[in-house]
Amino acid sequence: MTMRGMVLDAPRTPLRLASLPVPSPGTEQVLIRVHACAVCRTDLHVVDADLTEPKLPLIPGHEIVGTIAAMGAGVERFAIGDRVGVPWLGWTCGACAFCRSGRENLCAQARFTGYQIDGGYGEFTLADQRFCFAIPEGYSDTAAAPLLCAGLIGYRSLRMAGEAHRLGLYGFGAAAHIIAQVARWQGREVYAFTSPGDREAQAFARELGAVWAGGSDQSPPEMLDAAIIFAPVGPLVPAALRAVERGGTVVCAGIHMSPIPGFPYDILWGERVVRSVANLTRRDGEEFLQLAPKVPVKTRTVLYPLERANQALDDLRAGRLQGAAVLQL
Ligand SMILES: [Zn+2]
Ligand SMILES: [Zn+2]
Repeated sequence: MTMRGMVLDAPRTPLRLASLPVPSPGTEQVLIRVHACAVCRTDLHVVDADLTEPKLPLIPGHEIVGTIAAMGAGVERFAIGDRVGVPWLGWTCGACAFCRSGRENLCAQARFTGYQIDGGYGEFTLADQRFCFAIPEGYSDTAAAPLLCAGLIGYRSLRMAGEAHRLGLYGFGAAAHIIAQVARWQGREVYAFTSPGDREAQAFARELGAVWAGGSDQSPPEMLDAAIIFAPVGPLVPAALRAVERGGTVVCAGIHMSPIPGFPYDILWGERVVRSVANLTRRDGEEFLQLAPKVPVKTRTVLYPLERANQALDDLRAGRLQGAAVLQL
């Protein structure tokens, strides 16, 4: 049996539509018929070689929603036909100090979907059942897909922002449009920072309840209690530190960022914290996927057929999207 998939043969080249054999599930693996796969900025970092260790050739994509078509030995959590989601965290060792202390996101041997494991830009994919999630009812496949990374790594970043009431979000793309809804539901005030002059994104942020939206070159009307940086832009770190009140945290949510320029110590002084968020744990996923329907988080998606994956990546790179790009299969 064969399937269609979009393949990365080498960094900085367009994905190639290919006919590939449908893989068979090994022990603990499920074969998933992919229905939707959202396009994450991390996919761009893989294609553009900001992340340098992909398996090649590679089928990208780590925000996968599909149904189980076949199962390998030892699969007990799911049955044929169940709808599941597959996130970025694809496998961990389960034995190291990080794995044993609730920090499997930091496992040195972790393997990631759509990076070291073939992902969801194809009609079928394999996943380890232990790292799959049930998808909440009430979400269509395409609406649910962005929850799996933009949503749940965004949620982890929001947790790292602590109790902050006034929350800044730098970069108002797929993750911020989800996390703004959660933050508002939690009673926080959202301040949205977009590329300077991006009125469309600012209007989108206000629509989702931001009390203020402006360019990342502007100062917010009030000092923030915390900020999350979703844009992969190093100079936003000192900008966010300048906007954050004493004791506040600046969370860098992305897997890659351009170099951070030097800055004077006094913008860090006052017990301000700069930290990154790396990957996700399964607990983040379980928590967020229970929370999302309660808010309820509504995702805005721009749909593409599988063979237009390169266009979706280009649109994301150029900042032409409001919300999340999703491949519909
Ligand atoms: Zn480990
Ligand atoms: Zn992602």
